[in-house]
Amino acid sequence: MKVLLLGPPGSGKSTQAQRLSRKLSYFQVSTGNLIRAHIQSDTELGRSIKGRHDRGELVPDDVILEITLPNLEPAGRWILDGFPRNQAQARALHEALEKRGISLSRVIALEAPDGELIERIKGRRQSLATGWTYHLEHDPPPKKRDDLDAGPFVPREDDTAEAVRRQLEIYHQEVEPLKQHYEKQGILTVVDARKPIPEVTEDILQALRPARAD
Ligand code: AMP
Repeated sequence: MKVLLLGPPGSGKSTQAQRLSRKLSYFQVSTGNLIRAHIQSDTELGRSIKGRHDRGELVPDDVILEITLPNLEPAGRWILDGFPRNQAQARALHEALEKRGISLSRVIALEAPDGELIERIKGRRQSLATGWTYHLEHDPPPKKRDDLDAGPFVPREDDTAEAVRRQLEIYHQEVEPLKQHYEKQGILTVVDARKPIPEVTEDILQALRPARAD
């Protein structure tokens, strides 16, 4: 099972990828989390991309490919969230998978209106301990210190109104057109991301069912 999760900021890509990786023992590869881990650890790469990340801009393709492609194990079961985000990345992904003799099982596109996404992002919190994503109302972080996730739970640096506006612009210009490409291949399922979190997970599981039986 090799799954891609596409969707605008705030549509729940990370939340759903977390839930699916726990339910189905998939390896979650989140490009945003990989980037933030570099920024948090203050690596040279992290320092070089922090500005772009915090402003809601894409980080350069070569950086993304370098940190993402090695995680896509041919024998593994993985769910990739936040990649590809433009045509060049989609091409690079295709070539990398072809070289490894594997292909994508399914692409899930989460959809919700911009206005709702902007509201949701205001309540988003991320754990500095685990990188897991929460929402103050819809998926609250553990109140007591939890063995699995001790926090602290903080807004992301790119959760500002300006950065979110930029991410939405980029999503509509660069990411949304990729859906057509996967639709032509017959592997796209569009999922309504306005529903409550468990229902969205159920819809995704339903979409993955035929591929899981392979
Ligand atoms: P996310 O956690 O998926 O919302 O991504 C947050 C930010 O990380 C984006 O706004 C970009 O700055 C950066 N990023 C994540 N994935 C990519 C990607 N595939 N290409 C370029 N930048 C990315």
